[in-house]
Amino acid sequence: MKTWGKSYPHCKNCTTTRRAHRARGYCTRCYPLIRRLEIIRKWDLNDPKSLKGYFRLSSTWRSDTLESVRVTRLAKVQTQLDYLQMREEQLTGEVDGLDLESAFNHIAARCNRRSANLFQGSSTFFDHNFTPEQKRILFRLLNDIEEACAYKAPL
Ligand SMILES: [Zn+2]
Repeated sequence: MKTWGKSYPHCKNCTTTRRAHRARGYCTRCYPLIRRLEIIRKWDLNDPKSLKGYFRLSSTWRSDTLESVRVTRLAKVQTQLDYLQMREEQLTGEVDGLDLESAFNHIAARCNRRSANLFQGSSTFFDHNFTPEQKRILFRLLNDIEEACAYKAPL
C-alpha cells in the first residue's frame, strides 16, 4: 500500500488520507475516476481502440453523437469526484441535520431504490435530538456502512 508523503500529502481530489495513495496523487477511489475522465476525453471515432470497453464502433455513429455521449459521461464521472470531495469535507467538518438526512436517505436507497426519501424532512429531528458531537459520530458511522458497500455515488 502506497502512503501519502511529501509529494502528495493527501488525495488531490478528495483530500483524504484515510484511503491509500493509488497513483499520481490520487486515492484508491479517485484515481480510477480520474483515469476514466482521461480515457473519455481521448475518445476518437477514427481510432477504434480509444473506444474499447465503451462502444462498438458503428458506421451510423456521427461525431456529434460521440460528443454528446462524451459530455454526458464526463459530467457523470465529475459528479462522482465532486461527491467524494464533499464527503471528505463533511467527515472533517461540522455535521448538521441536513447532512444526516441525506446520509440516511443514501443508505436507505442502497437497501431499496424506492426508499431513497425515507428520511426526507428529518433534518430538524436530527438537529433537535443530537448534539453536534453526536451528529458527527452518527455521520461517521453511516459513512463506515457506505464505504463497506461497493462504491456508488448518489445519482
Ligand atoms: Zn480521493
